[in-house]
Amino acid sequence: MNNLSGLARNQRSANRWGAIVVALTMIVAFGTANSAKAAPDLVIINGSVLTMEPNQPRAAAIAVEGGVITHVGSTRSVQAMIGPKTQVINAAGRMIVPGFIDSHMHPRAQFDELGPYGRLDLTPEAGVVTRADLYAKLRAKIAVTPPGRLIVGTRYQDDLIGGHPTAAELDAIAPNHPVILVHSSGHRRSVNSLALKAAGITDATPNPAGGAIERDATGKATGIILESVPGFQPLYDTLPQPNATDELEAFRREFRMFLSHGIVGIGDAGASPEKVEIYRTLLREGLPVRLYAMISSSSIDWLIANRTKPEWQVPGLTLNAVKLFHGNSLSGRTALLYEPYAHDSHYFGIPPRLRQEEITALVRRVHDAGLQAAIHSNGDREIDMTLDAIEAALKANPRADHRHRIEHGSVAPLPILKRMRSLEVGLAPHSYILNHGEKLKDFGAARWDHIEPNRSALELGIPVGGNSDHSVSPPIVMQRIESLVTRRARSNGQVYGPSQRISVEQALQTYTLGSATLQFEEDTHGSIKVGKKGDIVILSADPRQIDPEQLETIKVDYTIIEGKVAYRRAHGGLQEQFGWFGRSAP
Ligand SMILES: [Zn+2]
Repeated sequence: MNNLSGLARNQRSANRWGAIVVALTMIVAFGTANSAKAAPDLVIINGSVLTMEPNQPRAAAIAVEGGVITHVGSTRSVQAMIGPKTQVINAAGRMIVPGFIDSHMHPRAQFDELGPYGRLDLTPEAGVVTRADLYAKLRAKIAVTPPGRLIVGTRYQDDLIGGHPTAAELDAIAPNHPVILVHSSGHRRSVNSLALKAAGITDATPNPAGGAIERDATGKATGIILESVPGFQPLYDTLPQPNATDELEAFRREFRMFLSHGIVGIGDAGASPEKVEIYRTLLREGLPVRLYAMISSSSIDWLIANRTKPEWQVPGLTLNAVKLFHGNSLSGRTALLYEPYAHDSHYFGIPPRLRQEEITALVRRVHDAGLQAAIHSNGDREIDMTLDAIEAALKANPRADHRHRIEHGSVAPLPILKRMRSLEVGLAPHSYILNHGEKLKDFGAARWDHIEPNRSALELGIPVGGNSDHSVSPPIVMQRIESLVTRRARSNGQVYGPSQRISVEQALQTYTLGSATLQFEEDTHGSIKVGKKGDIVILSADPRQIDPEQLETIKVDYTIIEGKVAYRRAHGGLQEQFGWFGRSAP
């Protein structure tokens, strides 16, 4: 008995014991009925494996059986296991890493932008790098949209197109359609006069709590709306709605795109019950991507009432966290700061919508329900208020391993990070200097070395999760890695805060084991280790052997989930392929 319990303890604590347990299980399962050893379902050989495991950081080959990694070692040792039904992938020297987990993003239905449900994509990836590009797209949409119907554009980048479009400019192009163009931050909108009118906003409308209506020197509303200004929802409600079939297909398109970037799991930072229902449908039909749904705080009652019900026990879906907002935007330059912004000595950002006692009560409610609080906060002043709320909850109701997390935590000098560390709070920082670096100008150079503080956070031992905040920045993982490593803005070539650069290995670590830790999944996911799920990515080149500014050129050749090929890039005579299969229980 003593021996057995001692063995059990060792099994939990050491890698090699994990291997032995798996081997023993196989003997039990196959030993009597079938003397032949079970062969793996999949082996990958001749690779350069970065495991993210300190005890065995490198390997050449992996075996996966029943969705679980059963062996990590040399090609010779794995080759000996190959059976008649084993799928063999020869990595031919390519780099193999754990599957990527994007710990904070916002999946959306991908519709044709000129179709009836489509919104204009105003990102540089979609070809908008000048004001003329933006207006050409707007004109094209006007040409196919009935007069009077709302036109929505998303993710324009003010620094590329020469500032935020004004109502007067938009009126000249769109006199007969209400227009709402959402900034890349998601925290500012440029709207025309018809949209202002429909929202009931006049020059005399006072600024609501948590938002602002920009005015010119004469007091006239410019059409630029900061943060939450109510009144626009009825306008959105007039848009035609896609049927359920079309919407599901648009989400499938989105998830296939994620798979093509090596993404095996995502954290949806603000899912509604309706969206989670879509996820459940997709998972039941075989979506292989795992979904960690952080439910919007407005639906906390739904979460508490439903999370333990049988109909919500769906393999691949985790309902454990609440997404809260306390604060505003970095790239939108609305985050609340202790000291003024560099471009305006009277501007500190926009105060959060909730007062301290309100956010404290909300965090307490999440905490007491045994849930994880994932709280959006960007400015130093906002983050401190959020940490005050977490501290109060922990004091009133101490709870081990709560893993509450700060989403973004963008302007975070060392004292704030140390506070996070002592409260055992995780961090999902932005990784978008490559796309939005120029927007940091208004924060002043003195702040750059503690914006997106990836390096300091890792050095302090804070769990850091890699993420895109898609569609704030693209979910192209290798582009995110490039940004974390270089911190160089593509628009102007400038490096912002070089002291916060991290290495390729560290960046990969945040996107694998780091994200898994934020999602309580580090025992089953996030590294290549015997006993963990067989979630594996094969890259076209070694990211450590390439000019860091070329990291984005590295492609994902294979995305493997639980030992099955979920995506294969067209390469070396192979066709592109997507796998859609059910997941096993965690
Ligand atoms: Zn977000």
